[in-house]
Amino acid sequence: MTRPLVAGIHLSALKHNFQKVRQAAPASKVMAVVKANAYGHGMDRVVSALTGADGFGVASLEEASRLRQIGIQQPVTLLEGFFEKDELAEIARLQLDVVVHHESQLSQLECAKLAMPLRVWLKIDSGMHRLGFLPDDAIPAYQRLVHCASVGKVDLFSHLAYADDRRSGYTERQLSIFQDAVKGLEGECSVANSGAILGWPDTHRDWVRPGLMLYGISPFIGSTAEDEGLQPVMTLGSRLIAVNRYRRQDAVGYGGAWVCPEDMDVGVAAIGYGDGYPRHAASGTPVLVNGKRAGIVGRVSMDMVTIDLRGHADAKVGDPVVLWGDGLPVEEVAQHAGTIAYELVCSVAPRSLRYEILE
Ligand SMILES: *Cc1c(COP(=O)(O)O)cnc(C)c1O
Repeated sequence: MTRPLVAGIHLSALKHNFQKVRQAAPASKVMAVVKANAYGHGMDRVVSALTGADGFGVASLEEASRLRQIGIQQPVTLLEGFFEKDELAEIARLQLDVVVHHESQLSQLECAKLAMPLRVWLKIDSGMHRLGFLPDDAIPAYQRLVHCASVGKVDLFSHLAYADDRRSGYTERQLSIFQDAVKGLEGECSVANSGAILGWPDTHRDWVRPGLMLYGISPFIGSTAEDEGLQPVMTLGSRLIAVNRYRRQDAVGYGGAWVCPEDMDVGVAAIGYGDGYPRHAASGTPVLVNGKRAGIVGRVSMDMVTIDLRGHADAKVGDPVVLWGDGLPVEEVAQHAGTIAYELVCSVAPRSLRYEILE
């Protein structure tokens, strides 16, 4: 028997979520963000299902090359631009678009001799304070790009720091800083990630850049996909590989972190942090055993988790265990593990995982 770990990928849910992007931002083009192996969902199959996307966003030349290799003809944007000037020839050959966020990239572009000029997204730091030209430096950087022989078209780009928080006024402030910085400059504009697509229509502009919401995960603090009309794309499942009866006071797993409060059944499912399940998931983190809620107990091991089977008298070896997805929001699991859903889905490790494509 192979290790029973499966990530079910619901392509119909992915398509539904894409339509939600279209509905929320009907006047904008959609750059579907598929970096990090499409947030752990498998980039090739995600991209093949998103035939209606106007473009794709990735984080590396390797990811972008793969998209060209599987025949993607839409614009593909390197969201962090290039890391070394040696990449530029290949970027030009594959006709990729680049985000330019730093002066070092500007000077490398100025020195480059490319067969084809590149489309460049000039990234402006409107308040995220991570990457981008400060607002005062936007116009000089824009002018240098416009006059650079390696650059064809120049467009305008920024990223939001608080779009996960509907109550924050920061997104509006960032938008207004962005607008002031690019006043009078020609070019298409792109600002909105998933949170902004659903929460701040004024940010939509020419191109929206959804990642998380495509995968059916809520971009907002304290809400789930269902609350936002999204459908989870990934269901991560495994099976029970043991059901054991222990006595009151028996300690379970590494460090004896769980002590049985009474005589009880403890199940073992084949999934652990080596597969991407969060090691910090606390006792009580929910899973579904045969579709019914149970909680994990004790420490998460590399290949296994232990599960409190009180109230699951029928549970037996081979029974299905859902870690997140259908019937169990990944957002809720993330909360129990002190992390965010982004990290959970991105960490799913292809080590022993089978992907199963579901329509
Ligand atoms: C990852 C990324 C996105 C997508 O963000 P979500 O919150 O997942 O929608 C958009 N823009 C940039 C620049 C990114 O790096």
